Amino acid sequence: MKQTALPSRRTPPMSEESRTNPQAWGPEMSRVREPGPLFDASRPYLHQGVSTRSVHAGQYDDPLTGAIGTPIYQNSTFYLNPTTYEAVKDGRAREHFIYARYGNPSQWALQEKLANLDQAESALAFSSGMAAISTALFALLERGAHVVTSRDLYGGTYNLFNEDFPDRGLSATYVDPTDPAAVEAAIRPETKLLFFESLTNPLLKLTPVRELVAIAKRRKIRVVIDNTFLSPLNYRPLEDGVDLVVHSASKYLNGHSDLIAGVAAGSRKLLDRLWAQMLKLGGNLDPHACFLLERGLKTYALRLRAQNHNAAALARFLESREEVARVYYPGLENHRQHALALEMLDGHGGMVAFEVKGGDAAAHRLLANLNLAKEATSLGGVESLVSLPYNTSQAGLTSSQRRAIGINPGLVRLSVGIEDAQDLIEDMKQALQAMEASS
Ligand SMILES: *Cc1c(COP(=O)(O)O)cnc(C)c1O
Repeated sequence: MKQTALPSRRTPPMSEESRTNPQAWGPEMSRVREPGPLFDASRPYLHQGVSTRSVHAGQYDDPLTGAIGTPIYQNSTFYLNPTTYEAVKDGRAREHFIYARYGNPSQWALQEKLANLDQAESALAFSSGMAAISTALFALLERGAHVVTSRDLYGGTYNLFNEDFPDRGLSATYVDPTDPAAVEAAIRPETKLLFFESLTNPLLKLTPVRELVAIAKRRKIRVVIDNTFLSPLNYRPLEDGVDLVVHSASKYLNGHSDLIAGVAAGSRKLLDRLWAQMLKLGGNLDPHACFLLERGLKTYALRLRAQNHNAAALARFLESREEVARVYYPGLENHRQHALALEMLDGHGGMVAFEVKGGDAAAHRLLANLNLAKEATSLGGVESLVSLPYNTSQAGLTSSQRRAIGINPGLVRLSVGIEDAQDLIEDMKQALQAMEASS
């Protein structure tokens, strides 16, 4: 196949000043960028419904054979030609196929679909959610920088802040993510970034993103949102003015519990910066995994709607049960931030947390009696998964830290799948009854 079979759009070359002046040496951030890299600027799917876009956006049908769907470009390198030599010279390597860590057709197709779903100018696929998060943080922060973040943070991100930040001259302050006044009070002169999760694990606290964006704009700092627990069908942080959204694509985006991947999405300018950092840290997504994720995304909207529906049904069922002390679900009227959920979200998500009476011992009995929901960590797959935060996602915290966040004994975390809601409810009902009977 000739290189020209994969069209790529040109951006203006680096200025003569940047090329020749040693003081201006380095990536020139002021040059005009096109949203991309893209195969074809005139893709018609930008403004159609989310199901249509999940299927079609970014897909690269093979021009040589007419095969439908993006082929797996399982190669590490590409023929160099005058265009690619020129692009490397001009600092536009991201827009051409040169070497697969820099980008390849499997990644481009996937990234275009991901950018479209997040309504972003540009997106990058990573080898994990943690690769996306660590690359983003190291790309955006310089020595001395301070981050305000959440006490209710994904364990891997907390460990990065807690263990790796100090060695690099970086620091973080942890605050209640639902309290904008606490966020603002934690901002210091050296604060460069707010890092929050739109919906927290496991208590499903909503971060008031618009209020945080307003604070950040006033204080001239950036906002990065981890949107893993909601995903773009339910919430698109970029539309609320966030600078960068990151996801673990291992969860809802891929949706089949068979892949680890991550995403960052935002402006072309910021994503170019992350791309340069990714080249150094090396967390790009391999072509076969890109294929799997792009395939998983074709049913994304369909899956999410089923998960939103099933989770709401299960949350209501659990609320009606004697054996259950409390249910946490943003779609329930008793959720502390239900009004914010109605204002902020298009759907309330597929995660439900609840406390059973009888503490962790009772919770263990419940899990042992569930037949449909598998006992496993992770979330967002087509199959329901259940776990106890105290010995999984929040095991790294001390018991007093858990108490401060609100994680009480007996807390169960449920990632609701796409099974039939009635079957999930029946299974939960018999497991609650068995839990009680064996107490
Ligand atoms: C799983 C998860 C991550 C990490 O993603 P990986 O793909 O496992 O690296 C980050 N943030 C949240 C909220 C997650 O649930």
